[in-house]
Amino acid sequence: MSVVENLYEIKKQIPDNVRLIAVSKTYPIEDIQHVYDCGHKIFGENRAQEFFEKQAKLPADIEWHFIGHLQTNKVKFVVPFALYIHSIDSLKLLNEVNKEAVKNNKVVNCLLEIYIASEESKMGLDLTEVFKILSSPEFQQMQNVRICGVMGMATFTENTDLIRKEFQNLKAGFDSIKTNHFKNNPYFKEISMGMSGDFHIAIEEGSTMVRIGTAIFGKRFMI
Ligand SMILES: *Cc1c(COP(=O)(O)O)cnc(C)c1O
Repeated sequence: MSVVENLYEIKKQIPDNVRLIAVSKTYPIEDIQHVYDCGHKIFGENRAQEFFEKQAKLPADIEWHFIGHLQTNKVKFVVPFALYIHSIDSLKLLNEVNKEAVKNNKVVNCLLEIYIASEESKMGLDLTEVFKILSSPEFQQMQNVRICGVMGMATFTENTDLIRKEFQNLKAGFDSIKTNHFKNNPYFKEISMGMSGDFHIAIEEGSTMVRIGTAIFGKRFMI
């Protein structure tokens, strides 16, 4: 199947209230352009340098989501072009994003990456760290970041019960953060969970954004 056929096949499986982020990391500009030409304008990238180079070659009305681990010294390559950053995993990073956003005279939508997997390799905050960040005087001062929700990645496994449990944990974390810090804040509403292999489960458990790469673009050959 072509990239375009894959896109339509995936779209059929996603309800209207869930946003599809086509994760285009490692794929060539032409593939992204094909998907864009079908009217899909939401894309995700996970490496600052690659993102920076690709966005310059693609239409300016693409809604870019940065979804990968972000080092503070790379923030300047991402902030000017990203509508969302899904991978906030420290106060230091959030602070840097805010500073860069001030320079660009914009507000960046941010998701807090929460650690839910039982794999050491995955990134993210635990709830104690989240509450510490949100209660900090530094965070209270930040005017140019908007915390819109949470992101998480489940364990890479065939065990669907485990994946479901991890997504339920992320939803519970979201609810707890909402209650404690964003009760009356309409912007705090996003749960970014679900990838090619597990998006059906993620949607059942309350996902509002799925990040899908290989199921649209095909197998990835570079990492
Ligand atoms: C690559 C990536 C995805 C997409 O993964 P697929 O399995 O190709 O759908 C989603 N989220 C993050 C953070 C990624 O890095």
